[in-house]
Amino acid sequence: MEFVDTLHRTRSAQLFEEAKKYFPGGVNSPVRAFKSVSGPPLFIKEGQGCRITDEDDNTYIDFCCSWGPLILGHNNAKVRELVLETVAKGTSFGTPTRLGNQLGRLITENNRYIDKIRFVSSGTEAVMSAIRLARGVTGKSKVVKFEGCYHGHVDSLLVKAGSGLATFGVSTSAGIPEDFAKATIVLPLDDRELLDQALQEHADDIACIIIEPAPANNGLLLQDKSFLECLRKKCHKYGVLLIFDEVISGFRVGFEGAAGYYGIQPDIITYGKIIGGGMPVGAYGASHEIMSHIAPDGPVYQAGTLSANPVAMAAGYAALQQLLEPGFYEGLERKTRHFVNAVREHADAKGFEMQVQQLASIFWIAFSRDKIVRASQIDAGSMDKFKVLHHELLQRGVYLGPSGYEVGFVSAAHTEEDLEEAAGKMKQALDIVFK
Ligand SMILES: *Cc1c(COP(=O)(O)O)cnc(C)c1O
Repeated sequence: MEFVDTLHRTRSAQLFEEAKKYFPGGVNSPVRAFKSVSGPPLFIKEGQGCRITDEDDNTYIDFCCSWGPLILGHNNAKVRELVLETVAKGTSFGTPTRLGNQLGRLITENNRYIDKIRFVSSGTEAVMSAIRLARGVTGKSKVVKFEGCYHGHVDSLLVKAGSGLATFGVSTSAGIPEDFAKATIVLPLDDRELLDQALQEHADDIACIIIEPAPANNGLLLQDKSFLECLRKKCHKYGVLLIFDEVISGFRVGFEGAAGYYGIQPDIITYGKIIGGGMPVGAYGASHEIMSHIAPDGPVYQAGTLSANPVAMAAGYAALQQLLEPGFYEGLERKTRHFVNAVREHADAKGFEMQVQQLASIFWIAFSRDKIVRASQIDAGSMDKFKVLHHELLQRGVYLGPSGYEVGFVSAAHTEEDLEEAAGKMKQALDIVFK
């Protein structure tokens, strides 16, 4: 497939060449390298509302939104103002701050699923700490995860299912000791039989089951609520802690995340992305009892030099306050549904072999009409189509995350007009994909 670039990206291309001298692959996070789409990655210099501008002065309607954090769009005025006010007084003290309290209060008072929270600096750190906490509380060591869920680059979770009947994991990255991978049991999503079997055989060694309740890192693999309820029940029965990794879904599908959306009480919840209002923040929360195991109250050690950094707390606080305004999530979902339906109707009318999945303000295009609830149901070959779609959208000024396994995010800054424009461009691009 030849890709004709009508997009002028000379400056981005030059910067990428330079970046390769300093950073492995020219990037500081692998997917940014545009390996599975065409052309060099765009170097973005500015974002305003739902639009980003690259170093060659091309502007795009952005559906990546920094991979999820920017639910209010770029450069939100209230976030910017509180960050500037805070920064003027210094950037870090390594002490408790009033702003940390404010964000802690805002979250715990508006979330029925956690009593206490601990701030860290990334989603990965949140998950890593939650796993340690689960092990500390239960005195057990094994972890169950599901294929198609991403939990950051934690050693024991960069693991896929082993071959054959063995459910013990094998690592998906070099540099992970085999013993770490073996401490993880990997199961397919939506499979109660294998879940039962794993619990019956290994419950005495299993500290926790971790799941993205709305898996959104490998396509959007929406689960039946009954599967999540089954997890909840089995965890109780077998003395295993249930961790909801809500780094994407937290504050995205509602202020109380997927726990609130499905009405299911997990034992520990991890957050990231939106919680920091665009600054590096992660967190984990649980009941008073479970959180009492964390140092300095309890024996599970976890610390961070820049944890609850005041500037990051300011960004999170200014952002999350806006999410609590009445009708915020309803409005966002309505806009997203309207956009998604416009694309669906076009695809259906033309008989395109595709579907658009949606949950709240998250959407995902799959090049298949089959129901997809497991990672194994995604056709890797269909990613060629995504590559064309991504390319054609870039030419037209619409930016999707540079991989067909990534979901799209709609922000409050996307107006109905922006979304109508984007839907029109999406239709044109799909016509070329299926030409
Ligand atoms: C993004 C993500 C992580 C990792 O968060 P980082 O801040 O990138 O470390 C973990 N879990 C889920 C569900 C995520 O979406």
